[in-house]
Amino acid sequence: MTKRLYYEDPYLRETEARVLGVREKTGKTWVRLDKTIFYPEGGGQPGDRGIIEGDGFRLTVENTIEEGEDIWHVGRLEGRKPKEGDIVRMRLDWEWRYENMRQHTGQHILSAVLKKLYDLDTTGFQIFESHNKIEVNGPLNWEMIEKAELEASRLIIKDIPVTIEEYKYLPDDIVAILRKHVTKVKGKIRIVRIGDVDVTPCGGTHVRSTREVGLIKVLRFYKKGKNLWRIEFVCGGRAIRKLNELLRDYWESLEGMPNKNPPLRERVKELRETMKGLEDRIDELRHELWRWKGEALLGRAQEVGHYNIVTLVEKWDMKNAQAFAVDFVSKNPGTVLLLASEKYVLFVRNEEVPVSMKELLQRVIDELGGKGGGTDNLAKGRVEADPEDVLEVAKEKLRELLEA
Ligand SMILES: [Zn+2]
Repeated sequence: MTKRLYYEDPYLRETEARVLGVREKTGKTWVRLDKTIFYPEGGGQPGDRGIIEGDGFRLTVENTIEEGEDIWHVGRLEGRKPKEGDIVRMRLDWEWRYENMRQHTGQHILSAVLKKLYDLDTTGFQIFESHNKIEVNGPLNWEMIEKAELEASRLIIKDIPVTIEEYKYLPDDIVAILRKHVTKVKGKIRIVRIGDVDVTPCGGTHVRSTREVGLIKVLRFYKKGKNLWRIEFVCGGRAIRKLNELLRDYWESLEGMPNKNPPLRERVKELRETMKGLEDRIDELRHELWRWKGEALLGRAQEVGHYNIVTLVEKWDMKNAQAFAVDFVSKNPGTVLLLASEKYVLFVRNEEVPVSMKELLQRVIDELGGKGGGTDNLAKGRVEADPEDVLEVAKEKLRELLEA
């Protein structure tokens, strides 16, 4: 069993402990101690990070994990392997932990305000490195969010103490005012009280006063499902970092616009319209090009009976070439277009031509080697020969098939 010092004093950053167990798992070293100031991942709050040092070794703790009554410190080991009975000195990554405490307390305030103002219940909570999220039963809009943020800010400034009470059995007067019901708990039930703002069961770590939260800022909210809305928010020092990241993104994006005046969403709309215009123009030009190219090809078509054979060594990529070829034969009855590049061959016919392109390609492959397939109207693949030679052979085979 590991004694949880973070419950007695969440501000304790350094202490000594004794090693109870050591194991190697998932490529990391896991150390179990008789007591710890490291909070283990749980209740939406991430596990603590920091350093555990003993005589001849140092563990850089990347995560802290709870297993029943035990708490494991998981990380990278330098030096010798610790052994049972070793005395170690442990030191928290205080910025990480303190910010998590600010986020966690901020969540209590935000959830309490959403309950008070709109009767919304918080069902899920998770702290991430860059932001936090909660899930509530919506609906929500920006006016509601702003009102809630202003109310939260008022509570923060009031410097309301955050206190912890522990109960073996919850008295009825406490049960009556809980924001959230108690779910399964091992041992004592911890109740977190923020003055008369919020009384809720919680196993996380919190700051001493609402003032320490600093700032609560909602970043975004969206509907996740029927009666389920997600709110992303951020508190404390992370709020400043996150807002700067978003504002930098905003202003730098605007700086990159032809017209640099806000709002950005208007500029994006303009760019979209410009793009649409350009795409339409490209399409017009493409069809113009196809028309000229088609005329030039027809000019040197070879007639076989009622049919026209057109050959072309192409540099376009297959997608463009195929779009052109399909358009070309559809406009020219009785025509076959045999197209070859360094990378592919493409045979396309007008439906009036009584020869299968798939069969034609197979005959060319049988003679020159390669692979491919398709339908009666269109066949494509790779042939192991120079494009000019492929077209010569294809033309020969097509002639045979047409004259048969
Ligand atoms: Zn909490």
